[in-house]
Amino acid sequence: MVLTLCGPPASGKGTQARLLGEQLDAPTLSTGRLIREQQRLGTAIGQLADRHLADGGLLPDLPTQQLLADWLDHGGHRRVVLDGFPRNVAQAGWLDRASTDRGLPPAIAVWLRVPDDVLIERTRRRWTCFHCGHSAVGPIENDPPLTCANCGAAMERRNDDQVAVLEKRLQAWHAAAPALQDHYRQDRRLIEIDADCDPDAVHRGIVAALGARDREAGSADASDPTSRRPGGDEPLPPAAPADGSRG
Ligand SMILES: [Zn+2]
Repeated sequence: MVLTLCGPPASGKGTQARLLGEQLDAPTLSTGRLIREQQRLGTAIGQLADRHLADGGLLPDLPTQQLLADWLDHGGHRRVVLDGFPRNVAQAGWLDRASTDRGLPPAIAVWLRVPDDVLIERTRRRWTCFHCGHSAVGPIENDPPLTCANCGAAMERRNDDQVAVLEKRLQAWHAAAPALQDHYRQDRRLIEIDADCDPDAVHRGIVAALGARDREAGSADASDPTSRRPGGDEPLPPAAPADGSRG
């Protein structure tokens, strides 16, 4: 099973990917985090990313796909939760082929809907841990820096979190989103969630929608973890606390 969190920047994809990964006992992959690691290491892909991301652009499809392919090949995972990929319909087509090539079913898209003005306000207040990738919303200024609730490292305001950069990335998102959404809608692989609320509520909404999808499918694959509901029809177990409640 491949679940992919789709949504504009700052829509909470990372938090929701982590919660779903914990719930489904599946590894999560943030392509943004993979790319930031390459930047930190100063690899060729990292240097390419430096040039593209500095002004609000994105790493091109091919190196992004290469990073993801390497991760899938090394892990040998049978179920994964993706965050930040695909960003366009071409990447979605690549992901379908990459999944099929590895014996995985085509991805289901969990589509987070959040109004732009909410995203801009969130972004102004977002801090990120470069050590583990955890992010949290906090004050715009804080001295000393916020401490990561996950690993204890000092957090930083991401330099791509400037509002002007966000607005450029939102434009790119809105340009690519309709075709990407259609790609998944046509195959009935789209789950749309209103994500303008607290992370735990969003998570519960996603879990409920996945459960409903399972029931609709009727003959859920026994190996499909979304059908692993204890006691049959009970909902999936409650989610772990999300960003908001962890500081
Ligand atoms: Zn951390």
